[in-house]
Amino acid sequence: MHDVIIIGAGPAGLATAFWCDELGLDTLVLEQAEQIGGQLHRIYNPIENYLGVKARNGEEFLELFAKDVETAEFDLWTQAVITSVDLKAKRVSLASGESLQSISIVIASGVSPRELGVPGEKEFVGKGVIESGARDRQLFAGHDVCVVGGGDAAVENALLLAEVCPTVTLVHRGKKLRARREFTERLQAVHCITVFTESVLTRIIGDETVQAVEIQRKAGIKPFQLAVRGVLIRIGVEPNSQFFREQLETDEKGFIKVSSTQETSVPMVFAAGDVSNPLAPTISSAAGAGATAAKVIAARLSAGR
Ligand SMILES: Cc1cc2nc3c(=O)[nH]c(=O)nc-3n(C[C@H](O)[C@H](O)[C@H](O)COP(=O)(O)OP(=O)(O)OC[C@H]3O[C@@H](n4cnc5c(N)ncnc54)[C@H](O)[C@@H]3O)c2cc1C
Repeated sequence: MHDVIIIGAGPAGLATAFWCDELGLDTLVLEQAEQIGGQLHRIYNPIENYLGVKARNGEEFLELFAKDVETAEFDLWTQAVITSVDLKAKRVSLASGESLQSISIVIASGVSPRELGVPGEKEFVGKGVIESGARDRQLFAGHDVCVVGGGDAAVENALLLAEVCPTVTLVHRGKKLRARREFTERLQAVHCITVFTESVLTRIIGDETVQAVEIQRKAGIKPFQLAVRGVLIRIGVEPNSQFFREQLETDEKGFIKVSSTQETSVPMVFAAGDVSNPLAPTISSAAGAGATAAKVIAARLSAGR
């Protein structure tokens, strides 16, 4: 019987575990991936907005977390594939056959990039479907590219690619870009970026690598093809809450609803980080939410013992 089982070892899960350890709780962290760190592995830009810490990218930031994880005494299982969770009973079953029991559970499973679901999107990963403008732009220097999305991440990546690509076409299905003003103002000053609003990318075309995309500018009008060598898709994220959705309250997009103590609608089940925070998904808010959950769990357990 554990005091706490934490699902996910990104910033939220690790911060929760670190605090639980400090508070003397018997803690087990379950991470489905081979490595801890979650989205930190996908940050290729400098991290300059975590108070007191500066890092060149997510990997460097993770090294700082990892040092503390190494010295802490909580249990951490990577490649832990969960097959079922009974939140009310606080029971977690793993593909390896183990059945784990706990007094409390913290869901810190984060988010995953949303997919467009168009032909070519999966086939051309690493062959023209670009994961990150910050990391990959030199590979596409001198080539025309397309970016899909209208939020901060899409516009920021379009601006980065425009530094090295002759043309960047930004395709957004809404009427207006959603990105913050700082980005949209910079966009207007960059002449090689063309913005297609109320438009959708319907297909990625190529042979060995991407050669073109198909874009539909208005419903009912025939799509046209645009020759590009790279496509970057940034259309938001999906909360990793599929496992839990039927057992607790979520919003309409699947983000887990929590109280100010990070507790979900199921008593002694907490959520921390991006999976429960659509408004401010940051490393600092994930770490803060983890600390809150740990403190509340420790107080509840000591009151009951
Ligand atoms: C490109 C990019 C740039 C960013 N830049 C910044 C920045 O400059 N500053 C900043 O503060 N934030 C930044 N962020 C956001 C930041 O990375 C996230 O807010 C933070 O990682 C959220 O932490 P988390 O632990 O909630 O989720 P995640 O980091 O998503 O971690 C969740 C973990 O849970 C695991 N998991 C999921 N489901 C299961 C399951 N069923 N069983 C077991 N494990 C599971 C996942 O494998 C993952 O390891 C950026 C994000 C991206 C993608």
